[in-house]
Amino acid sequence: MRGCGRAGKVRGVGARCYWLLALIGAVLVAGCSGRHDTVADRAFATAGAGPYVVVLGTAQDGGQPQAGTPPGPAWSPERRRYVTSLAIVDPVTRERWLFEATPDFREQLHALDRLAPSAAGVPGLTAIFVTHAHVGHYTGLLHLGREVIGARRVPVYAMPRMRAFLSAHGPWDQLVRLENIVLRELADGVTIRLNERVSVTPFRVPHRDEYSETVGFRISGPARTVIFLPDIDKWERWDEQGTRIEDVVRDADVAYLDATFYRDGEVPGRAMSEIPHPFIVETMLRFARAPASERAKIRFIHFNRTNPVAFPSAERSAVERAGFRVANMLEVVPL
Ligand SMILES: [Zn+2]
Ligand SMILES: [Zn+2]
Repeated sequence: MRGCGRAGKVRGVGARCYWLLALIGAVLVAGCSGRHDTVADRAFATAGAGPYVVVLGTAQDGGQPQAGTPPGPAWSPERRRYVTSLAIVDPVTRERWLFEATPDFREQLHALDRLAPSAAGVPGLTAIFVTHAHVGHYTGLLHLGREVIGARRVPVYAMPRMRAFLSAHGPWDQLVRLENIVLRELADGVTIRLNERVSVTPFRVPHRDEYSETVGFRISGPARTVIFLPDIDKWERWDEQGTRIEDVVRDADVAYLDATFYRDGEVPGRAMSEIPHPFIVETMLRFARAPASERAKIRFIHFNRTNPVAFPSAERSAVERAGFRVANMLEVVPL
């Protein structure tokens, strides 16, 4: 059986390891109801000293529930989902890196503070990485500005068009001018070493690039590699550019993949061809013949309000029965 530690430096994560992760996830999710301090203590005790990825949000850009949702059960606190975001935590150096600055930045920074408090003041982020200029992925940067935190020189890693966009348009340009943030370069396929144990490599993907390029991230630690790919057009468009999602998943241990929609036609009154994403049913089909160990690496994330997989449902059960996973708030993946 494959181990969980450094000695178990393997592509697949063993069953024992997943039991441990499931336990951590269950404890952490239970903590959402209010027992945060105990939960954070347990998380550190269980996760040990290794760096890890933690999920801070799973919803599509509009969050859950979205603006305009009529009063009803969708507004109950247990149905709330923050916009898709991850963090890397290194408990040894006490560094924290945030992936995406979402409209739920306030709550997500708070969740991170409870899980892994920073010794480096506010916001206590070593850097922020952003995938692209759609509303759910960068607008939380405003919390770093003069009206809120008034941060000092928080590094924000972004691709060239994204940096130009932030530098040239208000209100983002004020963050740059006042040095609340400092923009740092990302380049397609160029690895950035975060510290001795963790590195991040951006890779470009096809998406609606109105204001910026779009990237996914490959996050590598001492034992594991995690893919973060919250937004992409259809897999076939990536195929045309020479990259197959199957190969990307094969070379990783865990892959958080765009699961905006479950299937065609789920958004009434909208032409879904204008907002292309790989439907979950399409991703499941592509991996239907893959080994179960490959399907088990995939964790769906970035759920639109219409996606039934975000909550207990027949569709979610079908996804899990087929061997795929669904990302949960505060789940931890040791790197
Ligand atoms: Zn998005
Ligand atoms: Zn997008």
